[in-house]
Amino acid sequence: MSVGHTGIRGAVLVLNAGSSSLKYQLVHPDTEVVSAEGLCERIGDLGSSITHEQNGTEVTEQIELPDHKTAFERVVALFAEGGIDLATAGLRAVGHRVVHGGRTFFMPTLVTEHVMSEIDRISTLAPLHNPANLIGMRAAGELLPDVPAVVVFDTAFFHGLPDAASTYAIDRGVATLHAIRRYGFHGTSHEYVSAKAAEFLGRPPTELNQIVLHLGNGASASAIRGGQPIDTSMGMTPLQGLVMGTRSGDIDPAVVIHLHRVAKLSAEQIDTLLNKQSGLKGLCGESDFRSVTQLIEQGDASAKLAYDVYVHRLRQYIGAYMLDLGRLDAIVFTAGVGENAAGLRADALAGLENFGIVIDPDRNAVRSKDPRRISADGGTVDVLVVPTNEELAIARQSAAVVAEA
Ligand code: ADP
Repeated sequence: MSVGHTGIRGAVLVLNAGSSSLKYQLVHPDTEVVSAEGLCERIGDLGSSITHEQNGTEVTEQIELPDHKTAFERVVALFAEGGIDLATAGLRAVGHRVVHGGRTFFMPTLVTEHVMSEIDRISTLAPLHNPANLIGMRAAGELLPDVPAVVVFDTAFFHGLPDAASTYAIDRGVATLHAIRRYGFHGTSHEYVSAKAAEFLGRPPTELNQIVLHLGNGASASAIRGGQPIDTSMGMTPLQGLVMGTRSGDIDPAVVIHLHRVAKLSAEQIDTLLNKQSGLKGLCGESDFRSVTQLIEQGDASAKLAYDVYVHRLRQYIGAYMLDLGRLDAIVFTAGVGENAAGLRADALAGLENFGIVIDPDRNAVRSKDPRRISADGGTVDVLVVPTNEELAIARQSAAVVAEA
C-alpha cells in the first residue's frame, strides 16, 4: 500500500463489509488520491486485527472486534489518531459496496431506511454478503450521521443482460417466484476495466467488443459488446463460472443432489464445501495462486492438475464469448491473478494465432501498475492488462449520486 494525506475535503470513504471483514479506503473521486486505507479481519472471531495505513505509515493491531460496529468505531479512532476527523473532514459520501442488488437495484442509490429494508429482503439471494453489507451501513450511519451514504451494487452492470443469457432453463414459475436468474457479479470492476481499456486504445467504448477476465480470489469473465455486457460467467450467486480460489465454479447441479442424498451432507455443509473448500483449494490445498504456482515448481501433481483445470475452464469461457461477440477487439486481464500472473495469461491464450490472438512474451513479462498491451503487433485482437480499481469506481459513482441528490 502506498497512500498520502492530502485533499481530504470532498473525498469518499468506500466501505466493503464482508461477513467477517471490513475493507475501507478514503479516496478522492476527482484527484484519485488515496488518503488512507485498511482492513479489519476476523471480526466476531478469535485473533481479529486491523491493518490501517495513513500518512504513509502502516499499523497493524491485534484487537478484539466482536462485531462490525466495534470494528468501524476503531477505524474512525485510527483515522483521528492520524489527524483525520471523519465526521468533520468534509467527506462527500460514504460509498458502500453491496454484493447483491437482486431485481430491485441496478443504479447506485442513496441509502435510506427503505433502501436498507429492500437490501435486507434480497438477503436470501446473498445470505453471506448482504447482511454484512447492511451491518456496515448501520455502523457508518450511526458514527457518521451527517455524511450521505450511497450503495453501489456488484450486480448492477449486468442488469441488462439479454434474456437468453440471464435465464436458467428451469421451470419458469419456480424461477420467477424465487428470483432465480443469472445476475452476474464484479460488475463495478468489469465496467471500470472495460471503460479503461477503451480509453487506453483511444476508441469509443461503443465501438469495441471485449472479453474482460477478472481473475482474483473470486473470478469472473464477461463479454461486452459496445460497452454493454451480453454475458458473464457468474450466476444467481458468485459461485458459478470459472474455477476460483476456494469456489468450484461450474459443476453439474446433480452433484449437489448426490452430495445430499448419498454423502448425506446438509445444505450448510454443501454450501461450505462448494464456496470455501473447492476451486484451487479443493484440488491442491492452496487457494492463493502464488502458492499454487510454487507447488507446481516443486513438482506437486495436485497443484498442476488444479492449474490445468483452472486454465481449461478459462479457455472455455474465452471461446464461448468469442463466438457470442462475433467480432472480438480486445481481451482484458485484471485483478490479482490477471494483473500479475504472466504465465497464466500466456497459457490462457496459447495457440490462438488463427483467431488473431498473439501474446508478445516480452510485453507480457513487464510488471507495471499501468494499463498495457501485451499482444504482438499484427494480431487482430488487442490483449491488455488493465489494473482494476473498484474503490475508485465506487467513490466516483457515490459522488455522482450525491451531486444529483
Ligand atoms: P480479491 O478477489 O480478494 O480482491 P485479488 O484481486 O487481490 O483478490 O487477487 C488475489 C489473487 O491474486 C491471489 O490468488 C494471489 O495469489 C494472486 N496474485 C497476487 N499477486 C500475484 C503475483 N505476483 N503472481 C501471481 N498471482 C498473484
